[in-house]
Amino acid sequence: MPVMELLVIQPTPFCNINCSYCYLPDRRSKAVVSKETLSNLFSEVFASGWVHDCLSVVWHAGEPMVLPPGFYRDAFRAIDALKPTGVSVSHSFQTNGTLIDDAWCDFLVEEEVGVGVSIDGPRHLHDRNRLTRSGHGTFDRTIAGIRLLRRRGVPFHVISVLSSLTMKSPAEMFDFYVSEGIEEVCFNVEESEGSHVSSTFAQGDVEASYYRFMSEFWRLSAAAPGKLTFIREIDHAIRQVLRPKDAVTANQLTEPFAVTSMDVAGNISTFSPELLGLKNLKYGDFLLGNINTDRLVDLLERPNLANMSRDIHAGVELCRQNCQYFSVCGGGEPVNKLSENGTFVSTETAYCRLTRMRVTDLVLDAIDRLPVSGSGAISLGDLAGDLRDQVRRQGALASPCGM
Ligand code: SF4
Repeated sequence: MPVMELLVIQPTPFCNINCSYCYLPDRRSKAVVSKETLSNLFSEVFASGWVHDCLSVVWHAGEPMVLPPGFYRDAFRAIDALKPTGVSVSHSFQTNGTLIDDAWCDFLVEEEVGVGVSIDGPRHLHDRNRLTRSGHGTFDRTIAGIRLLRRRGVPFHVISVLSSLTMKSPAEMFDFYVSEGIEEVCFNVEESEGSHVSSTFAQGDVEASYYRFMSEFWRLSAAAPGKLTFIREIDHAIRQVLRPKDAVTANQLTEPFAVTSMDVAGNISTFSPELLGLKNLKYGDFLLGNINTDRLVDLLERPNLANMSRDIHAGVELCRQNCQYFSVCGGGEPVNKLSENGTFVSTETAYCRLTRMRVTDLVLDAIDRLPVSGSGAISLGDLAGDLRDQVRRQGALASPCGM
């Protein structure tokens, strides 16, 4: 039986801005998910028995804040009414931040909604890609939203897409976050997805650039304790590298319905959320059914789920046999394999070389430079807890990246 951990819901495909690297095909559509569709979804999800103790719901795949807070308040109460005893549901938004105002801050605090704001660094980096429909930069509106979140004490993290230019500017990025009081940072790379072909991946030295960027960014952070409390890529890699020896790396993205996605019309997909809007010669689309007409549990029997599962697991098996990073990766992201290699039945992608391999190398290289105490081996717990402190003290990351 599947275990559903993450539910990605598209409340509307509409986005009020028009980023140059956006892969969402319907971002001009102002359709809004109906109350009935949401009710059908959560009735089916809770009736399936696939949710254990907790379910994370991300409202995404369009700009969630183009709908008013009242829309979500109503939706959350309806979900609460359907929720079985003992199950907790947490909500989060991924937003471009341009529409954040006091009413949104009230809502986010009252409903304890997690917030990720997309900002690509200081103005001249952000405004290269994050544009309005008329081609103007969105930096001023996004940073105004972030500053309001800070003034109102709303917890948030940021996600920044790294371009080839950004990767040359780790100090500028670090100084930007610190000057704006941004403490939790996640980095994405501009990916090839659907019809969008990444210009970053086309750069010949992108892996070395990524390694240098992350290395120097980490060093800067370690040298200024307390400024950044979370760097997702580094923290995740440390957790993976220093996990107990026999711990299996779970990969939600390759297990049916662990991550389940629903579009504005009630269509259901699984594995990588980005598959929801994609089409492909071999698979057609990646839709398994519609929550307004199908039982969720019946989607397990769909032939296209069997086809996708077979190919995705064959790709994971190839990774297991051929990739020395498998133990920290678990076989990668199906959508990147499909977009870059043309098939799920494949291994390496430019995406995984950056986000899995090079960042793992970075952590392993840092560990290699740690001294082993004369009194015996460093315990795993001490190493996990102290790694960043030790690196900070020794400036151990300064020399190898040549910066
Ligand atoms: S790093 Fe890439 S090749 Fe290696 S297991 Fe992950 S997806 Fe597969």
